Amino acid sequence: MTERVPGFSTLAIHAGAQPDPTTGARATPIYQTTSFVFDDVDHAASLFGLQTFGNIYTRIGNPTTAVLEERVAALEGGTAGLAVASGHAAQVLAMQSLMTPGDEFVASKNLYGGSINQFNHAFKSFGWNVVWADPSDIGTFERAVTPKTKAIFAESIANPGGVITDIEAVSAVAKRAGVPLIIDNTLATPYLCKPIDYGADIVIHSLTKFLGGHGNSIGGMIVDAGTFNWSREGRYPMLSAPRPEYNGIVLHETFGNFAFAIACRVLGLRDLGAALSPFNSFLILTGTETLPLRMQRHVDNTKIVTEYLAKHSKVAWVSYPGLPGDRYHALAEKYCPKGAGSVFTFGLKGGYDAGVKLVSNVKLFSHLANFGDTRSLIIHPASTTHRQLTDEQRVQAGAGPDVVRLSIGLEDPADIIADLEEGLATA
Ligand SMILES: *Cc1c(COP(=O)(O)O)cnc(C)c1O
Repeated sequence: MTERVPGFSTLAIHAGAQPDPTTGARATPIYQTTSFVFDDVDHAASLFGLQTFGNIYTRIGNPTTAVLEERVAALEGGTAGLAVASGHAAQVLAMQSLMTPGDEFVASKNLYGGSINQFNHAFKSFGWNVVWADPSDIGTFERAVTPKTKAIFAESIANPGGVITDIEAVSAVAKRAGVPLIIDNTLATPYLCKPIDYGADIVIHSLTKFLGGHGNSIGGMIVDAGTFNWSREGRYPMLSAPRPEYNGIVLHETFGNFAFAIACRVLGLRDLGAALSPFNSFLILTGTETLPLRMQRHVDNTKIVTEYLAKHSKVAWVSYPGLPGDRYHALAEKYCPKGAGSVFTFGLKGGYDAGVKLVSNVKLFSHLANFGDTRSLIIHPASTTHRQLTDEQRVQAGAGPDVVRLSIGLEDPADIIADLEEGLATA
C-alpha cells in the first residue's frame, strides 16, 4: 500500500486517535485520572528525566488531551500541540517560553478584547511589554521592532471580524527581526486558514470557539510549527540553555522541531498549572470531528446574512471581508478562500438606541459575549463589553454606538434572516 496523505476531513476525525488498546473503545475515552502508575523505578526515572515519553500526572499531560493535541497539530500542519485550560492560558504559556522581564513583543492592535487587556495589564505586570502595530500598515510592525523584541503576535481573521492580517508580510518582518511569528487562528480555524503555510512559527487557539464549536467548554492550544531556530544567538534561553531540573539537557538540542511545544509543557504548564480537564478535551475532540462540515455551513450562512444586511434600509454598513468591495476582500481571497469566517460587525443607521432595540427584540439570536457556537449570537458592544470605555476609545476599538456584532450559527439561514428582519423592524 502506498502512503497517502490524508485529507483535512479525514484528519479531523482520525488524527491522533486509535481504538483504545485495553478495551477496544472506538471513541477516545475520557481518562479521568490525576496520575498514572509507573512500570518500575527505572521507568519513573526516565519519565521524570524526559528520556521517555509517557504519562505522569494530568497537569503535565493526559491521554485524552494528547489525542486532541495531536489532532489540532495535524490540522494546522504543525509538529506538536499543547492543550491548556483556555485560550488566554495558551497565550501566557507561549509567551512565557519566549520572554524575560524587560523584553518586548509587537502585537497587532486588532485583537480579541480580552487579549488586549491581557497584554496591557497582566503581561505588563510580568515585565513583558507590548508594542502595538496596525495590520492595515505593515510598516508599523517593522518600526516597532527593537533589540528587545522577542515575538510578533497577530490574529489571522482579527476579532471582531472584518480585518484579515497579511500573514506573509508580517512573517517577513518577523524573519528579518529573527523572532517567531505567533498567529491566533481562533476565528478562522485551520479549515479556513493555515497560518503555518504563510510563515507562522507558532499558532494559538481558543478551543472555546469553533474548534469545540458547541459553546460548552473552555480550552486553549499552542501549536509548534517546528520552523524556528531557537538556538541562533541564544535569545531564547528556555530553549537553548541547559535546564538544571532536567539533568542539564538543552530542549532545542534534544527535541529539535517540536522543542517549543515541549518547553511550554515541561516548563510552562508544569509550573503555571493551567491544565485542561480530560472531560473538556473529550468534548472539544468530539467538536473537531465535524469542524469542516460546521465551518462550511458557518461561512455559507454568513454569506447569505451579510448579503441580506448589506441591502437592508436600516443598515449603514457591513464589515465582512467576504463581501466584494470590502477593503480586506483581496486578503480574504488569498488567506481564507473558503470564506472569511462567521463573525462580523455592521452599523445601524439608528445608532445606539437602534442597537439596544435590535438585541432586545431578536429571539433566535442569543444576546451574549461569545462567538463560534452552533447557535447564532448577537452583541451590541457599546452597551455591554465596551461600556466602560469613553466614546472615543469605543470608536477606536471598532465598537462605536451603532456597531452590532453577529456570530452566525448553523440554523436554517431563512430562520436567521427572519429573526433579524423582526428585530430590525423595531430598531
Ligand atoms: C476567545 C478568544 C481568546 C481567549 O480565549 P479563552 O478560551 O476565552 O480564554 C483569545 N483569542 C481570540 C481570538 C478569542 O476569540
